[in-house]
Amino acid sequence: MKYVSTRGTADQTPRSFCDILLEGLAPDGGLYVPERYPRLDKATLADWRRTLTEDGYPALAFEVLRLFIDDISDADLRRLTQHAYAPGKFSDPKVVTTADIGDGMALGRISNGPTAAFKDMAMQLLGELFEFELGRRGQVITIVGATSGDTGSAAEYAMKGKRGVTTFMLTPRGRMTPFQQAQMFTLDDPRIINVAVDGVFDDCQDLVKAVNSDLAFKAEHHLGAVNSINWARLVAQVVYYVALWLRVTDSDDQRVSFAVPSGNFGNICAGHVAREMGLPIDTLVLATNENNVLDEFFRTGVYRIRTGAETHETSSPSMDISKASNFERFVFDLLGRDGERVRQLFVDELSATGAFDLSGLPEFGTLRERYGFVSGSSTHADRLDEIRRLFESRAIIIDPHTADGVHVVRTLRAEGVAFAEPAVVLETALAVKFSETINEALGHDVERPASFAGLEDLPRRVVDLDNDEDALKALIRDTLAALRAAPAAEA
Ligand SMILES: *Cc1c(COP(=O)(O)O)cnc(C)c1O
Repeated sequence: MKYVSTRGTADQTPRSFCDILLEGLAPDGGLYVPERYPRLDKATLADWRRTLTEDGYPALAFEVLRLFIDDISDADLRRLTQHAYAPGKFSDPKVVTTADIGDGMALGRISNGPTAAFKDMAMQLLGELFEFELGRRGQVITIVGATSGDTGSAAEYAMKGKRGVTTFMLTPRGRMTPFQQAQMFTLDDPRIINVAVDGVFDDCQDLVKAVNSDLAFKAEHHLGAVNSINWARLVAQVVYYVALWLRVTDSDDQRVSFAVPSGNFGNICAGHVAREMGLPIDTLVLATNENNVLDEFFRTGVYRIRTGAETHETSSPSMDISKASNFERFVFDLLGRDGERVRQLFVDELSATGAFDLSGLPEFGTLRERYGFVSGSSTHADRLDEIRRLFESRAIIIDPHTADGVHVVRTLRAEGVAFAEPAVVLETALAVKFSETINEALGHDVERPASFAGLEDLPRRVVDLDNDEDALKALIRDTLAALRAAPAAEA
Protein backbone atom coordinates (compact mmCIF):
# COMPACT_ATOMS: atom_id res chain seq x y z
CA MET A 1 0.00 0.00 0.00
CA LYS A 2 1.43 3.33 -1.11
CA TYR A 3 0.29 6.91 -0.56
CA VAL A 4 -0.17 9.84 -2.93
CA SER A 5 -0.96 13.53 -2.46
CA THR A 6 -4.42 14.97 -3.14
CA ARG A 7 -2.66 17.63 -5.23
CA GLY A 8 -0.27 15.22 -6.84
CA THR A 9 0.27 14.38 -10.47
CA ALA A 10 0.88 10.93 -11.90
CA ASP A 11 4.64 11.41 -12.17
CA GLN A 12 5.15 11.72 -8.39
CA THR A 13 6.57 8.73 -6.57
CA PRO A 14 4.10 7.18 -4.11
CA ARG A 15 5.31 6.98 -0.50
CA SER A 16 5.06 4.27 2.11
CA PHE A 17 3.10 4.51 5.37
CA CYS A 18 6.01 5.12 7.74
CA ASP A 19 7.43 7.82 5.46
CA ILE A 20 4.24 9.86 5.61
CA LEU A 21 3.66 9.06 9.30
CA LEU A 22 6.09 11.68 10.60
CA GLU A 23 5.52 14.16 7.80
CA GLY A 24 2.07 15.76 7.95
CA LEU A 25 1.37 17.62 4.71
CA ALA A 26 2.76 16.39 1.40
CA PRO A 27 5.49 18.64 -0.05
CA ASP A 28 3.01 20.07 -2.60
CA GLY A 29 0.72 21.15 0.26
CA GLY A 30 -1.80 18.36 -0.36
CA LEU A 31 -2.92 15.60 1.99
CA TYR A 32 -1.78 12.02 1.74
CA VAL A 33 -4.31 9.38 0.74
CA PRO A 34 -3.89 5.71 -0.17
CA GLU A 35 -3.39 5.01 -3.87
CA ARG A 36 -6.58 2.99 -3.70
CA TYR A 37 -8.85 1.81 -0.91
CA PRO A 38 -8.63 -1.85 0.06
CA ARG A 39 -11.88 -3.69 -0.72
CA LEU A 40 -13.65 -5.79 1.89
CA ASP A 41 -15.58 -8.91 0.98
CA LYS A 42 -18.20 -10.72 3.02
CA ALA A 43 -15.73 -13.35 4.16
CA THR A 44 -13.46 -10.67 5.65
CA LEU A 45 -16.36 -9.06 7.48
CA ALA A 46 -17.34 -12.48 8.86
CA ASP A 47 -13.76 -13.04 9.98
CA TRP A 48 -13.63 -9.66 11.65
CA ARG A 49 -16.87 -10.38 13.49
CA ARG A 50 -15.14 -13.41 15.01
CA THR A 51 -11.97 -11.42 15.72
CA LEU A 52 -13.80 -8.68 17.60
CA THR A 53 -15.87 -11.15 19.63
CA GLU A 54 -13.09 -13.58 20.46
CA ASP A 55 -9.93 -11.46 20.52
CA GLY A 56 -11.20 -7.94 21.15
CA TYR A 57 -10.68 -4.45 19.77
CA PRO A 58 -6.85 -4.42 19.55
CA ALA A 59 -6.93 -7.56 17.39
CA LEU A 60 -9.53 -6.00 15.10
CA ALA A 61 -7.41 -2.84 14.89
CA PHE A 62 -4.47 -4.97 13.78
CA GLU A 63 -6.55 -6.61 11.02
CA VAL A 64 -7.87 -3.30 9.67
CA LEU A 65 -4.55 -1.43 9.88
CA ARG A 66 -2.75 -4.35 8.25
CA LEU A 67 -4.57 -3.44 5.01
CA PHE A 68 -3.04 0.05 5.04
CA ILE A 69 0.41 -0.53 6.54
CA ASP A 70 2.92 -2.80 4.86
CA ASP A 71 6.19 -1.46 6.22
CA ILE A 72 5.78 -2.62 9.84
CA SER A 73 6.00 -6.34 10.58
CA ASP A 74 2.93 -8.28 11.74
CA ALA A 75 4.50 -8.92 15.13
CA ASP A 76 5.35 -5.24 15.67
CA LEU A 77 1.99 -3.96 14.45
CA ARG A 78 0.19 -6.42 16.72
CA ARG A 79 2.21 -5.22 19.69
CA LEU A 80 1.57 -1.55 18.86
CA THR A 81 -2.20 -2.05 18.63
CA GLN A 82 -2.19 -4.09 21.86
CA HIS A 83 -0.42 -1.21 23.63
CA ALA A 84 -2.58 1.53 22.07
CA TYR A 85 -5.83 -0.12 23.14
CA ALA A 86 -4.54 -1.93 26.23
CA PRO A 87 -6.92 -2.90 29.03
CA GLY A 88 -6.97 -0.17 31.65
CA LYS A 89 -6.49 2.72 29.23
CA PHE A 90 -10.15 2.72 28.30
CA SER A 91 -12.91 2.87 30.88
CA ASP A 92 -14.65 -0.05 29.15
CA PRO A 93 -12.62 -3.21 28.47
CA LYS A 94 -14.43 -3.48 25.11
CA VAL A 95 -12.90 -0.07 24.20
CA VAL A 96 -15.80 0.85 21.90
CA THR A 97 -19.43 0.06 22.80
CA THR A 98 -22.95 1.05 21.77
CA ALA A 99 -26.11 2.00 23.62
CA ASP A 100 -29.65 2.05 22.24
CA ILE A 101 -31.08 5.56 22.65
CA GLY A 102 -34.45 4.97 20.96
CA ASP A 103 -35.96 6.57 17.85
CA GLY A 104 -33.87 4.30 15.61
CA MET A 105 -30.62 5.63 17.02
CA ALA A 106 -27.71 4.09 18.87
CA LEU A 107 -24.93 5.92 20.65
CA GLY A 108 -21.50 4.91 19.35
CA ARG A 109 -19.37 5.15 22.46
CA ILE A 110 -15.89 6.05 21.27
CA SER A 111 -14.94 8.43 24.10
CA ASN A 112 -13.92 5.88 26.73
CA GLY A 113 -10.24 6.78 26.49
CA PRO A 114 -7.90 8.59 28.91
CA THR A 115 -9.12 12.13 28.05
CA ALA A 116 -12.81 11.32 27.51
CA ALA A 117 -12.93 12.39 23.86
CA PHE A 118 -12.87 10.32 20.66
CA LYS A 119 -9.53 11.84 19.71
CA ASP A 120 -7.90 9.34 22.07
CA MET A 121 -8.81 6.55 19.62
CA ALA A 122 -6.42 7.93 17.02
CA MET A 123 -3.86 9.61 19.28
CA GLN A 124 -3.16 6.53 21.38
CA LEU A 125 -2.18 4.66 18.23
CA LEU A 126 -0.21 7.63 16.91
CA GLY A 127 1.85 7.73 20.13
CA GLU A 128 2.82 4.06 19.68
CA LEU A 129 3.59 4.49 15.99
CA PHE A 130 5.75 7.57 16.60
CA GLU A 131 7.80 5.91 19.32
CA PHE A 132 8.28 2.81 17.18
CA GLU A 133 9.29 4.57 13.98
CA LEU A 134 11.52 7.18 15.66
CA GLY A 135 13.29 4.35 17.49
CA ARG A 136 13.76 2.44 14.25
CA ARG A 137 15.24 5.52 12.54
CA GLY A 138 17.23 6.71 15.56
CA GLN A 139 15.43 10.06 15.42
CA VAL A 140 13.65 12.34 17.86
CA ILE A 141 10.72 14.72 17.34
CA THR A 142 9.57 17.92 19.01
CA ILE A 143 5.83 18.30 18.65
CA VAL A 144 4.68 21.90 18.79
CA GLY A 145 0.90 22.19 18.76
CA ALA A 146 -1.90 24.56 19.61
CA THR A 147 -5.19 23.57 21.17
CA SER A 148 -8.30 25.06 22.66
CA GLY A 149 -9.57 21.75 23.91
CA ASP A 150 -9.64 18.06 23.10
CA THR A 151 -6.75 17.70 20.67
CA GLY A 152 -4.12 18.93 23.09
CA SER A 153 -5.06 16.73 25.97
CA ALA A 154 -5.47 13.65 23.75
CA ALA A 155 -2.05 14.34 22.22
CA GLU A 156 -0.38 14.81 25.60
CA TYR A 157 -1.83 11.63 27.10
CA ALA A 158 -0.75 9.73 23.99
CA MET A 159 2.81 11.11 23.92
CA LYS A 160 3.34 10.79 27.68
CA GLY A 161 6.43 8.68 28.37
CA LYS A 162 7.08 8.06 24.67
CA ARG A 163 10.79 7.79 23.96
CA GLY A 164 12.13 10.38 21.52
CA VAL A 165 9.06 12.63 21.74
CA THR A 166 8.93 16.06 23.41
CA THR A 167 5.64 17.95 23.27
CA PHE A 168 5.00 21.68 23.60
CA MET A 169 1.27 22.38 23.69
CA LEU A 170 0.13 25.99 23.41
CA THR A 171 -3.21 27.00 24.92
CA PRO A 172 -4.93 30.38 25.15
CA ARG A 173 -4.50 31.41 28.80
CA GLY A 174 -7.67 31.04 30.85
CA ARG A 175 -9.84 30.11 27.90
CA MET A 176 -10.31 26.36 28.20
CA THR A 177 -12.87 24.80 30.51
CA PRO A 178 -11.59 24.20 34.07
CA PHE A 179 -11.79 20.45 33.45
CA GLN A 180 -9.74 20.67 30.25
CA GLN A 181 -7.14 22.83 31.99
CA ALA A 182 -6.90 20.41 34.89
CA GLN A 183 -6.59 17.46 32.52
CA MET A 184 -3.64 18.92 30.67
CA PHE A 185 -1.83 20.88 33.35
CA THR A 186 -1.69 18.05 35.90
CA LEU A 187 0.14 15.68 33.54
CA ASP A 188 3.46 14.87 35.12
CA ASP A 189 6.07 14.25 32.44
CA PRO A 190 9.14 16.49 31.94
CA ARG A 191 8.85 16.04 28.16
CA ILE A 192 5.30 17.42 28.07
CA ILE A 193 5.34 21.19 28.33
CA ASN A 194 2.07 23.09 28.74
CA VAL A 195 2.36 26.65 27.52
CA ALA A 196 -0.33 29.21 28.42
CA VAL A 197 -0.13 31.99 25.86
CA ASP A 198 -1.29 35.50 26.59
CA GLY A 199 -3.79 35.52 23.71
CA VAL A 200 -6.61 33.63 21.97
CA PHE A 201 -6.48 30.32 20.11
CA ASP A 202 -5.63 31.98 16.78
CA ASP A 203 -2.57 33.58 18.41
CA CYS A 204 -1.43 30.12 19.55
CA GLN A 205 -1.90 28.76 16.06
CA ASP A 206 -0.02 31.70 14.53
CA LEU A 207 2.90 31.10 16.89
CA VAL A 208 3.04 27.44 15.85
CA LYS A 209 3.03 28.46 12.20
CA ALA A 210 5.71 31.11 12.81
CA VAL A 211 8.21 28.72 14.44
CA ASN A 212 7.55 26.14 11.72
CA SER A 213 8.19 28.62 8.94
CA ASP A 214 11.70 29.23 10.29
CA LEU A 215 13.14 26.25 8.43
CA ALA A 216 16.53 26.37 10.14
CA PHE A 217 14.91 26.37 13.59
CA LYS A 218 12.52 23.64 12.49
CA ALA A 219 15.34 21.39 11.29
CA GLU A 220 17.62 22.08 14.25
CA HIS A 221 14.96 21.13 16.80
CA HIS A 222 13.19 18.42 14.76
CA LEU A 223 9.79 20.10 14.86
CA GLY A 224 6.77 18.02 13.94
CA ALA A 225 3.01 17.95 14.41
CA VAL A 226 0.14 15.64 15.29
CA ASN A 227 -2.71 17.51 13.63
CA SER A 228 -5.87 15.96 12.30
CA ILE A 229 -4.65 15.78 8.70
CA ASN A 230 -2.17 13.05 9.67
CA TRP A 231 -3.19 9.94 7.74
CA ALA A 232 -2.32 7.64 10.64
CA ARG A 233 -4.94 9.39 12.79
CA LEU A 234 -7.51 8.98 10.08
CA VAL A 235 -6.89 5.31 9.49
CA ALA A 236 -7.05 4.59 13.23
CA GLN A 237 -10.58 5.97 13.11
CA VAL A 238 -11.64 3.58 10.35
CA VAL A 239 -11.29 0.79 12.93
CA TYR A 240 -14.09 2.04 15.16
CA TYR A 241 -16.52 2.36 12.26
CA VAL A 242 -15.93 -1.33 11.66
CA ALA A 243 -16.24 -2.17 15.37
CA LEU A 244 -19.45 -0.16 15.79
CA TRP A 245 -20.95 -1.67 12.65
CA LEU A 246 -20.14 -5.15 14.02
CA ARG A 247 -21.69 -4.29 17.38
CA VAL A 248 -25.04 -3.13 15.96
CA THR A 249 -25.47 -5.78 13.25
CA ASP A 250 -25.82 -9.55 13.25
CA SER A 251 -25.46 -10.30 9.57
CA ASP A 252 -22.63 -9.41 7.22
CA ASP A 253 -24.64 -7.40 4.70
CA GLN A 254 -26.78 -5.36 7.07
CA ARG A 255 -26.59 -1.67 6.25
CA VAL A 256 -26.60 0.97 8.99
CA SER A 257 -26.07 4.73 9.08
CA PHE A 258 -23.63 6.88 11.04
CA ALA A 259 -24.21 10.41 12.30
CA VAL A 260 -21.03 12.35 12.96
CA PRO A 261 -20.61 15.71 14.74
CA SER A 262 -18.15 17.41 12.41
CA GLY A 263 -15.73 20.29 12.29
CA ASN A 264 -12.55 19.48 10.38
CA PHE A 265 -14.07 16.53 8.47
CA GLY A 266 -11.59 14.14 10.14
CA ASN A 267 -13.90 11.74 11.92
CA ILE A 268 -16.44 11.52 9.11
CA CYS A 269 -13.69 11.19 6.50
CA ALA A 270 -12.80 7.89 8.20
CA GLY A 271 -16.46 6.91 7.74
CA HIS A 272 -16.16 7.78 4.06
CA VAL A 273 -13.07 5.58 3.76
CA ALA A 274 -14.83 2.70 5.54
CA ARG A 275 -17.79 3.04 3.17
CA GLU A 276 -15.51 3.15 0.12
CA MET A 277 -13.87 -0.05 1.39
CA GLY A 278 -17.27 -1.69 1.29
CA LEU A 279 -18.34 -1.61 4.93
CA PRO A 280 -22.16 -1.75 4.62
CA ILE A 281 -22.83 1.90 5.48
CA ASP A 282 -26.03 3.29 4.04
CA THR A 283 -25.87 6.98 4.96
CA LEU A 284 -23.25 9.24 6.52
CA VAL A 285 -25.07 12.02 8.35
CA LEU A 286 -22.79 15.02 8.71
CA ALA A 287 -23.78 17.28 11.60
CA THR A 288 -22.39 20.77 12.20
CA ASN A 289 -23.13 23.45 14.77
CA GLU A 290 -23.67 27.12 13.90
CA ASN A 291 -20.36 26.96 12.03
CA ASN A 292 -22.03 25.27 9.09
CA VAL A 293 -19.31 25.38 6.42
CA LEU A 294 -19.74 21.68 5.67
CA ASP A 295 -23.54 21.56 5.95
CA GLU A 296 -23.63 24.37 3.41
CA PHE A 297 -21.42 22.41 1.01
CA PHE A 298 -23.46 19.22 1.17
CA ARG A 299 -26.69 21.16 0.69
CA THR A 300 -25.59 23.61 -2.00
CA GLY A 301 -22.29 22.48 -3.54
CA VAL A 302 -20.60 25.71 -2.41
CA TYR A 303 -17.60 25.41 -0.12
CA ARG A 304 -16.93 28.80 1.44
CA ILE A 305 -14.36 29.25 4.17
CA ARG A 306 -15.22 31.76 6.88
CA THR A 307 -13.26 34.65 8.33
CA GLY A 308 -12.35 34.75 12.00
CA ALA A 309 -15.13 37.27 12.61
CA GLU A 310 -17.69 34.98 10.95
CA THR A 311 -16.72 32.01 13.13
CA HIS A 312 -19.09 31.59 16.07
CA GLU A 313 -18.02 30.63 19.57
CA THR A 314 -20.50 27.89 20.46
CA SER A 315 -21.36 25.39 23.17
CA SER A 316 -19.78 22.69 20.97
CA PRO A 317 -16.37 24.40 20.76
CA SER A 318 -14.47 21.52 19.17
CA MET A 319 -16.50 22.10 16.01
CA ASP A 320 -15.93 25.88 15.84
CA ILE A 321 -13.97 25.96 12.60
CA SER A 322 -13.64 28.40 9.72
CA LYS A 323 -12.53 25.75 7.22
CA ALA A 324 -12.46 21.94 7.26
CA SER A 325 -8.87 20.80 7.03
CA ASN A 326 -9.58 17.19 5.98
CA PHE A 327 -12.27 18.01 3.43
CA GLU A 328 -9.78 18.01 0.56
CA ARG A 329 -9.52 14.22 0.87
CA PHE A 330 -13.20 13.81 0.07
CA VAL A 331 -13.11 16.32 -2.78
CA PHE A 332 -10.18 14.37 -4.28
CA ASP A 333 -12.38 11.26 -4.44
CA LEU A 334 -15.43 13.20 -5.62
CA LEU A 335 -13.47 14.64 -8.55
CA GLY A 336 -12.25 11.25 -9.72
CA ARG A 337 -8.88 11.69 -7.97
CA ASP A 338 -7.79 14.50 -10.25
CA GLY A 339 -4.93 16.12 -8.29
CA GLU A 340 -4.53 19.03 -10.68
CA ARG A 341 -8.22 19.96 -10.34
CA VAL A 342 -7.97 19.71 -6.52
CA ARG A 343 -4.95 22.00 -6.58
CA GLN A 344 -6.86 24.55 -8.65
CA LEU A 345 -9.77 24.52 -6.20
CA PHE A 346 -7.84 24.52 -2.93
CA VAL A 347 -4.96 26.75 -3.98
CA ASP A 348 -6.09 29.03 -6.80
CA GLU A 349 -9.83 29.42 -6.18
CA LEU A 350 -9.79 29.42 -2.38
CA SER A 351 -6.98 31.95 -2.16
CA ALA A 352 -8.58 34.19 -4.79
CA THR A 353 -12.21 34.10 -3.66
CA GLY A 354 -12.38 32.12 -0.40
CA ALA A 355 -14.83 29.72 -2.00
CA PHE A 356 -15.49 27.23 -4.79
CA ASP A 357 -18.74 26.00 -6.26
CA LEU A 358 -19.27 22.40 -7.42
CA SER A 359 -23.05 22.64 -7.71
CA GLY A 360 -22.99 22.44 -11.50
CA LEU A 361 -20.98 19.23 -11.67
CA PRO A 362 -22.63 15.88 -12.40
CA GLU A 363 -20.51 14.47 -9.55
CA PHE A 364 -22.28 16.78 -7.12
CA GLY A 365 -25.68 15.77 -8.48
CA THR A 366 -25.05 12.10 -7.70
CA LEU A 367 -23.17 12.67 -4.44
CA ARG A 368 -25.95 11.38 -2.17
CA GLU A 369 -26.36 8.09 -4.06
CA ARG A 370 -22.70 7.54 -4.73
CA TYR A 371 -21.21 8.57 -1.35
CA GLY A 372 -24.18 8.45 1.03
CA PHE A 373 -23.80 11.93 2.52
CA VAL A 374 -26.60 14.03 3.98
CA SER A 375 -26.13 16.95 6.37
CA GLY A 376 -27.69 19.30 8.86
CA SER A 377 -26.82 21.68 11.68
CA SER A 378 -27.92 22.61 15.19
CA THR A 379 -28.20 25.68 17.40
CA HIS A 380 -27.36 26.02 21.07
CA ALA A 381 -31.06 25.68 21.97
CA ASP A 382 -31.35 22.49 19.84
CA ARG A 383 -28.44 20.91 21.68
CA LEU A 384 -29.84 21.79 25.10
CA ASP A 385 -33.18 20.23 24.04
CA GLU A 386 -31.52 17.00 22.98
CA ILE A 387 -29.49 16.77 26.18
CA ARG A 388 -32.69 17.21 28.20
CA ARG A 389 -34.71 14.82 26.06
CA LEU A 390 -32.24 11.97 26.35
CA PHE A 391 -31.76 12.51 30.06
CA GLU A 392 -35.52 12.41 30.63
CA SER A 393 -36.18 9.41 28.40
CA ARG A 394 -33.14 7.22 29.17
CA ALA A 395 -31.19 8.88 32.00
CA ILE A 396 -28.24 9.16 29.59
CA ILE A 397 -26.30 12.43 29.58
CA ILE A 398 -24.66 13.30 26.27
CA ASP A 399 -22.22 16.09 25.61
CA PRO A 400 -23.16 19.10 23.41
CA HIS A 401 -21.22 17.80 20.37
CA THR A 402 -22.98 14.45 20.48
CA ALA A 403 -26.28 16.29 20.99
CA ASP A 404 -25.64 18.01 17.66
CA GLY A 405 -25.50 14.60 15.95
CA VAL A 406 -28.72 13.41 17.60
CA HIS A 407 -30.47 16.62 16.64
CA VAL A 408 -29.50 16.41 12.98
CA VAL A 409 -30.71 12.80 12.70
CA ARG A 410 -34.02 13.81 14.23
CA THR A 411 -34.56 16.88 12.03
CA LEU A 412 -33.53 15.20 8.78
CA ARG A 413 -36.03 12.42 9.48
CA ALA A 414 -38.71 15.01 10.16
CA GLU A 415 -37.86 16.57 6.78
CA GLY A 416 -38.54 13.18 5.19
CA VAL A 417 -34.94 12.15 4.53
CA ALA A 418 -34.83 8.35 4.85
CA PHE A 419 -31.80 6.32 5.91
CA ALA A 420 -31.08 2.87 7.28
CA GLU A 421 -31.45 2.18 10.99
CA PRO A 422 -29.95 2.24 13.41
CA ALA A 423 -28.27 5.58 12.86
CA VAL A 424 -25.20 5.25 15.06
CA VAL A 425 -24.51 8.70 16.52
CA LEU A 426 -20.85 9.00 17.37
CA GLU A 427 -20.27 10.19 20.93
CA THR A 428 -17.31 12.49 20.35
CA ALA A 429 -16.76 13.44 24.02
CA LEU A 430 -18.14 12.64 27.44
CA ALA A 431 -20.48 15.15 29.02
CA VAL A 432 -18.17 15.59 32.03
CA LYS A 433 -15.91 17.77 29.88
CA PHE A 434 -18.67 20.32 29.29
CA SER A 435 -20.37 20.61 32.66
CA GLU A 436 -21.35 24.25 32.16
CA THR A 437 -23.61 23.39 29.23
CA ILE A 438 -24.94 20.30 30.97
CA ASN A 439 -25.81 22.44 33.96
CA GLU A 440 -27.59 24.89 31.70
CA ALA A 441 -29.62 22.06 30.16
CA LEU A 442 -30.37 19.99 33.26
CA GLY A 443 -29.84 22.25 36.24
CA HIS A 444 -27.24 19.94 37.71
CA ASP A 445 -23.74 18.69 36.99
CA VAL A 446 -22.64 15.39 35.50
CA GLU A 447 -21.35 12.81 37.89
CA ARG A 448 -17.56 12.67 37.62
CA PRO A 449 -16.20 9.26 36.48
CA ALA A 450 -13.93 7.82 39.17
CA SER A 451 -10.89 8.04 36.90
CA PHE A 452 -11.17 11.85 36.92
CA ALA A 453 -11.87 12.30 40.64
CA GLY A 454 -9.81 14.99 42.34
CA LEU A 455 -8.15 16.09 39.10
CA GLU A 456 -8.31 19.79 40.04
CA ASP A 457 -6.40 19.17 43.29
CA LEU A 458 -3.26 17.75 41.69
CA PRO A 459 -0.18 19.96 41.23
CA ARG A 460 -0.09 21.84 37.92
CA ARG A 461 2.71 22.27 35.41
CA VAL A 462 2.23 25.14 33.02
CA VAL A 463 4.53 27.87 31.67
CA ASP A 464 3.17 31.34 30.94
CA LEU A 465 4.33 32.85 27.66
CA ASP A 466 3.92 36.24 26.00
CA ASN A 467 2.37 36.15 22.56
CA ASP A 468 5.82 36.38 21.00
CA GLU A 469 7.63 34.15 18.54
CA ASP A 470 11.11 34.74 19.95
CA ALA A 471 9.91 33.93 23.46
CA LEU A 472 8.50 30.61 22.18
CA LYS A 473 11.72 29.78 20.34
CA ALA A 474 13.74 30.54 23.47
CA LEU A 475 11.45 28.33 25.53
CA ILE A 476 11.82 25.42 23.09
CA ARG A 477 15.59 25.83 22.80
CA ASP A 478 16.20 26.16 26.55
CA THR A 479 13.85 23.35 27.53
CA LEU A 480 15.36 20.90 25.04
CA ALA A 481 18.86 21.84 26.21
CA ALA A 482 17.89 21.28 29.85
CA LEU A 483 16.33 17.91 29.01
CA ARG A 484 19.49 16.85 27.17
CA ALA A 485 21.59 17.88 30.18
CA ALA A 486 19.45 15.86 32.57
CA PRO A 487 18.86 12.52 30.85
CA ALA A 488 18.17 10.92 34.21
CA ALA A 489 14.80 12.64 34.24
CA GLU A 490 13.86 10.48 31.29
CA ALA A 491 14.15 7.16 33.08
C1 LIG B 1 -12.52 17.16 17.39
C2 LIG B 1 -13.92 17.05 17.83
C3 LIG B 1 -15.00 17.09 16.93
C4 LIG B 1 -14.81 17.35 15.45
O1 LIG B 1 -14.20 16.29 14.82
P1 LIG B 1 -13.62 16.43 13.32
O2 LIG B 1 -13.09 15.10 13.05
O3 LIG B 1 -12.58 17.47 13.39
O4 LIG B 1 -14.72 16.82 12.43
C5 LIG B 1 -16.28 16.93 17.41
N1 LIG B 1 -16.51 16.76 18.74
C6 LIG B 1 -15.50 16.73 19.64
C7 LIG B 1 -15.84 16.56 21.08
C8 LIG B 1 -14.17 16.86 19.23
O5 LIG B 1 -13.19 16.84 20.13
